Amino acid sequence: MHELTLAQIARGLADKTFSSEELTGALLARIAEHDGRLNSFISVTAERALAQARAADARRASGETGALLGAPVAHKDLFCTHGVRTTCASRMLENFEAPYNATVVEKLDAAGMVTLGKTNMDEFAMGSASENSHFGPVKNPWNLEHVPGGSSGGSAAAVAARLLPASTGTDTGGSIRQPAAFTNLTGLKPTYGRVSRWGMIAYASSLDQGGPLARTAEDCALLLQGMAGFDPKDSTSIDEPVPDFSAGLNTSLEGLSIGVPKEYFSPGLDPRIGDAVQATVAELQKLGARVVDISLPNLGHAIPAYYVIAPAEASSNLSRFDGVRFGYRCEHPADLTDLYKRSRGEGFGAEVQRRIMVGTYALSAGYYDAYYVKAQQVRRLIKNDFMAAFEQVDVILGPTTPNPAWKIGAKSADPVAAYLEDFYTITANMAGLPGLSMPAGFVDGLPVGVQLLAPYFQEGRLLNVAHRYQQVTDWHRRSPEGF
Ligand code: GLN
Repeated sequence: MHELTLAQIARGLADKTFSSEELTGALLARIAEHDGRLNSFISVTAERALAQARAADARRASGETGALLGAPVAHKDLFCTHGVRTTCASRMLENFEAPYNATVVEKLDAAGMVTLGKTNMDEFAMGSASENSHFGPVKNPWNLEHVPGGSSGGSAAAVAARLLPASTGTDTGGSIRQPAAFTNLTGLKPTYGRVSRWGMIAYASSLDQGGPLARTAEDCALLLQGMAGFDPKDSTSIDEPVPDFSAGLNTSLEGLSIGVPKEYFSPGLDPRIGDAVQATVAELQKLGARVVDISLPNLGHAIPAYYVIAPAEASSNLSRFDGVRFGYRCEHPADLTDLYKRSRGEGFGAEVQRRIMVGTYALSAGYYDAYYVKAQQVRRLIKNDFMAAFEQVDVILGPTTPNPAWKIGAKSADPVAAYLEDFYTITANMAGLPGLSMPAGFVDGLPVGVQLLAPYFQEGRLLNVAHRYQQVTDWHRRSPEGF
């Protein structure tokens, strides 16, 4: 049963081939058997899941339908869940229980989804490897010595290992797409404002966006349908009609124009990933697409600008964790300053502290104009590059990552080396555009992904291209040995 995709599960539940309770029981048993090797879950909510499954079965017995009714999911552990702790993989929130559900959780609960648990991640979503977790690193099911990507690495590893069919993640600079690429999944970062951020613990508010991770584009369409939509509780949510993503999957690619930016083929790219990109282009050409050479001239400035803006917003967002109102509090503080200092010093891990310091520095009087304002100007140039490119093409295609998943610990001593790995993904967040990563081959036995970007609110186009590609290729069907 664990090999079933979300779409197959929806059919199986509708046909009554199995009940949600049976499916939930089987997947919980798989998590119990295999997650010791992966560390992909921070909390497994078995009792609650079985109760939700029975409730979903009862709703179905009384005539209710719906693709997600009774289907399993897990949430990255930064979506607030009422009654279940939300840790952000931090000692700071180790025992934090939110008094409410994030809108995404609320919507998927209402659709009847069964939450199996909360997944491991980089602390406060800062990282590209899921190594920065207070609960220990997540392992890549394709090779347990390698990272699964991050920060949504637990969500990715669990789905890749067939512990469940789909999960939620968040993407501030690539944290859905990059772990999808590293674990052979399809992952979608929606347009900024498409999915509510309410109840999603903030890292960098102008960049953060929730989205689905699954094995196929078809499954991402189903989960995104449940997650997307205007939310008056999120002031940056956009009141834009949500199309039927599944209905748009089979549109022909005849005449679709694909832009391939010349700057993508830089010396930092593993040539074998470059080959996978070219092979993907050739496959899409067979389906009727045509290729246009384009340019994104400001691409080279994206990483420095992002690593000013994201830490700046993080330093502001994380100031609320002061040991007073909620979160970790140090023992026996001498006075108020000591309480602040030690609570934050002991509660936050090294990478989070590094980002807070960089961000606070960039926002300080005297440096604000030189760093933060300058980075925002670069951000506008990056957006303008995309606007010009989308005058010419329907989608932009390239690698998701410059290299396949690295060995656990290989970049721990050099944070900048890890930051450079975000080269292809962060521009979509800087511009607010939707982006998708899909499986496109293997290098040294590790999966690699190809990224597609589209204009605002064209998630449907990304899912359509990925779905058509997945009809003629089988990369996404391969599963890691031993799981
Ligand atoms: N790797 C990037 C960072 O560490 C992106 C993380 C994310 O998307 N949450 O900031």
